[in-house]
Amino acid sequence: MVDLDDINQLVDDRSYTVIGSTIMLPKIEMELLTVKNGKIVAVEENYGISRKNNLFKLVLYCGTQHKDVEFIGKNKLLSGIGYIESIYQTTNYRNIKKDINWLNMYSGKIRTISFLDSKGVLCRKKMASIPCHYCGIIVPLSHITVDHKAPSLEKTPNRRGYAVLKTLRALSNYYTVAPGEGKKSIIAQSTLVGIPHDPPMVPTKMNRVASTTPGSRANRDKITEKGILFFNIANLYFGNGSRMYNYDHFVHTFLNLAPVCSHCNSSKQENRGTFIPKPYQFY
Ligand SMILES: [Zn+2]
Repeated sequence: MVDLDDINQLVDDRSYTVIGSTIMLPKIEMELLTVKNGKIVAVEENYGISRKNNLFKLVLYCGTQHKDVEFIGKNKLLSGIGYIESIYQTTNYRNIKKDINWLNMYSGKIRTISFLDSKGVLCRKKMASIPCHYCGIIVPLSHITVDHKAPSLEKTPNRRGYAVLKTLRALSNYYTVAPGEGKKSIIAQSTLVGIPHDPPMVPTKMNRVASTTPGSRANRDKITEKGILFFNIANLYFGNGSRMYNYDHFVHTFLNLAPVCSHCNSSKQENRGTFIPKPYQFY
C-alpha cells in the first residue's frame, strides 16, 4: 500500500533549500521528465518540484524568481499512484492472462474449438478462448500472446512514452490535455472514484471505424504541467527515490496489454489487423 510518508521520506532524504516555508528540491537531483512526441525526455522548462504540507507543486524558476504553476493534493496523488500499483503486473506481465477482469474485458470465454484428430476426423472441445484484439480471430487462450500496445504510432520504438500517456489519460485529473475516452479509461476512472462497475468489453479492432473527433487524438497524447508533476512524483516513488526511473509501472499494466494472435504480433506488424479470414467451407 502506498503511504504518503514514503513519498515524503523520499523527498526529505534529499538535500534541499528552503525558500519561505516551501521546500525546494535541487533541480540537479530531480532532472524532471516529460513526454514529447511519444518520447520520454527531460523537460526544457526550468521546472522544479516542491512540497508544502500536503500539496505537491510544480514550480517554474525564472532567474531568482519562482512561481507555482501546478499542484496536486495528497489524496489525488495517493489514489493515482495506488491505482497504478494495483494494476501493475510486476515481473511477469504475461500473468495478465490469469486476470479475470482482463479476460472479461477482452471477451475471454469458454468456447467450442475445432480440432482434426489423427484419423482426419473433426472433433470439438470446449476450452478457454479469446479473440485477437487486432484481427478478431478467436484462438484458445493458451495460443494467444500478450502485446504491449503502442497507441497511435504502432511502428515507433517509443512505446514507453505512449504507455505513460495512456496511463496518465486513464487517470484523468487533467494529466493530459484531453482525458482518455476508451473502455479502459472508464474502468480506471470509475475505480478511482470508488464506483462499483462491471468491466466493460473492449471491442476488437476488426472493421473498427476510427474516432472522427478532430484533434482529439493529439490532445489525448499531450501531457499537461499537472501530468508532468504527477509523472515525476510517481517516478520518484516507483524508482525508490533513485534516478534510475522504472517505467515498468506505466508499461506493464492492463491499460497497456492486449491479447494478440501470433500473426498480428509478428515482426510484420504492417499486416496487423488486415487479416480477414475468408469463409471457405471445408467441412
Ligand atoms: Zn490477430
